[in-house]
Amino acid sequence: MMSDSSRRIRMRAAGLLTGTALLAATAACGSGAAESAGGTGGAGGGRPEVTAALYPLQWLAEQVGGGDVTVIGLAEPGVEPHDLELTPAQVAGLEKTSLVAYVKGVQPAVDEAVEQHAADRGFDAATLVKTLAAEEHAEEGHGEEGHAEEEHGHEVSYDPHLWLDPSRFATVATRLGEKLAAADPARAAGYRERAAKAAADLTALDGELAQGLADCASRSIVTGHEAFGYLADRYKLKQVGISVDPDAEPSPARLAEVAEVAKREKVTTIFTETLVSPKVAEVLAQEVGATTAVLDPIESRPADGDYLSAMRQNLTTLKKALSCP
Ligand SMILES: [Zn+2]
Repeated sequence: MMSDSSRRIRMRAAGLLTGTALLAATAACGSGAAESAGGTGGAGGGRPEVTAALYPLQWLAEQVGGGDVTVIGLAEPGVEPHDLELTPAQVAGLEKTSLVAYVKGVQPAVDEAVEQHAADRGFDAATLVKTLAAEEHAEEGHGEEGHAEEEHGHEVSYDPHLWLDPSRFATVATRLGEKLAAADPARAAGYRERAAKAAADLTALDGELAQGLADCASRSIVTGHEAFGYLADRYKLKQVGISVDPDAEPSPARLAEVAEVAKREKVTTIFTETLVSPKVAEVLAQEVGATTAVLDPIESRPADGDYLSAMRQNLTTLKKALSCP
């Protein structure tokens, strides 16, 4: 439970060494035969095991790892990932997994477990891309609701929802390929090839979003929880979040403020989320005479399809709501 700053600094230093540490760790985890078989350690018959803390990284690990890795997902479908609690078995699994892919700041339970059990094997996507500063309503004078960031578990100063910008996520794909290639040199070419394919898919998606959202009548998106900062930043939209925390009720002052913005900007759609109760958004929509639509922050596996199809569905929803040609 202790997490003083010196520990953080040490953890960060350890992060810089993960390339070599990962090699050592996977070798140490393997059975005696792993070396002669040309494999690295971990479960699954000599294949490296990648533990993915949340769905987008699980998807990415499956794309890049292909049949050469075993991917273990920590998050259950349909559960708000910020609330994730790890079972003792999952924590024990972190002791021997080859790599833990996560975004520090999304799941406090994972951040703490990685720090304690897999500090030398963490693959923190937030360290690989330029992050955006977190929105902080609590410091803008809406103090009575408490510090929403802390309740949300975002103990970091940046917005952690970086997978909602496919161009940043393409960078993560490339880096994951490099990481796996270094850890499992016998299969390096496969990791690099699949990483390049995943990065190309994400770059193509980025192009579709840029083109689809280039010329819209409106550019303001009112969202339930402030998860779409990267998407807004990348495609020049303006996010007006009702709340930072997906679970917290926004204060009356915040609601009134958002309603005012929505009216001023002639917002026609208030976005709700897949995993969060739409109640507040519905009340707000009624007040400003807008409709609601679901925008998926892809914090959990979509009911059908995958990361790419969920992002394309988001594009379709946004184009309709913002009147884009
Ligand atoms: Zn979130």
